[in-house]
Amino acid sequence: MADLGNFTKTSEILGKYQFRMQKKYGQNFLIDANILAKIVEAAQITKGDCVLEIGPGIGTMTQYLAEEAERVIAVEIDRGLIPILEDTLSVYDNVTVICEDILKVDLSALAEENGGRPLKVVANLPYYITTPIIMALFESRMPLASITVMVQSEVADRMQTGPGSKEYGALSLAVQYYAKPEIVARVPASCFLPRPNVDSTVVRLTRYEKPPVEAADEAFLFAVIRASFNQRRKTLVNGLANAGGLGVTRGQVEKALEEMGLSPMVRGETLTLERFTELSNRLLRQRE
Ligand code: SAM
Repeated sequence: MADLGNFTKTSEILGKYQFRMQKKYGQNFLIDANILAKIVEAAQITKGDCVLEIGPGIGTMTQYLAEEAERVIAVEIDRGLIPILEDTLSVYDNVTVICEDILKVDLSALAEENGGRPLKVVANLPYYITTPIIMALFESRMPLASITVMVQSEVADRMQTGPGSKEYGALSLAVQYYAKPEIVARVPASCFLPRPNVDSTVVRLTRYEKPPVEAADEAFLFAVIRASFNQRRKTLVNGLANAGGLGVTRGQVEKALEEMGLSPMVRGETLTLERFTELSNRLLRQRE
């Protein structure tokens, strides 16, 4: 394996193809072999695994993944990187590169290609869309074993926080619902080219076989959660009654809160996952 995970090799490849990094795509390439090895080890990839890599860049981590997995599907948005990937991955016959925006890819169809067996996601994520990507992976219902990703440290904190903190939001609740989060490594800015302005953290999210709460309708639960945090300053009653897609009235929200022994002035940021689930189940019954 021609290890691209250092400053010299990465600069050489970028120079050879006269590739100009695009800030708008969150391009900060990993140039630290120790961190690369740590991410791949944390992902616990075995020969039978199919790995989905989001944003392969010049293929640095893809090479590590191709060595360990049975198959790697790498989705890269930047067309300019495709000729580079064809070069750096030319020796691997188990890698498929798809040039597409990950948010537009039919994730369930990808899983079907893997015979419906759970995929492992591994990525050094573009920071401008970390939360939408993680939410999309969870909500796609694709079979997933784990997600091992580099994220901004602030996002890693958001994944692990509970009610009352200002970081608490839809991402915290989605992670609690779907997976067990673990911090793998804190990563200094010097491990990237160019250096990002924020600190980074590698987290592993191991998918639960069964969520810790019983939602009558998962999609509705997350619609309620999103609507509750869309307008953080508003009370839950106002947030939910004004949210178009939910189809619940002000009276129904007030009644559900009253039955739960909650004040009509309560805000979403104070509710646990259990309380959100109870609220959404009650609202569903009332809607019916
Ligand atoms: N994996 C490489 C590494 O570790 O050196 C690159 C990581 S870089 C932080 C993020 C990568 O995601 C870039 O290659 C960028 O072009 C790609 N990317 C950005 N937005 C994307 C999207 N919506 N869909 C797929 N790839 C995307």
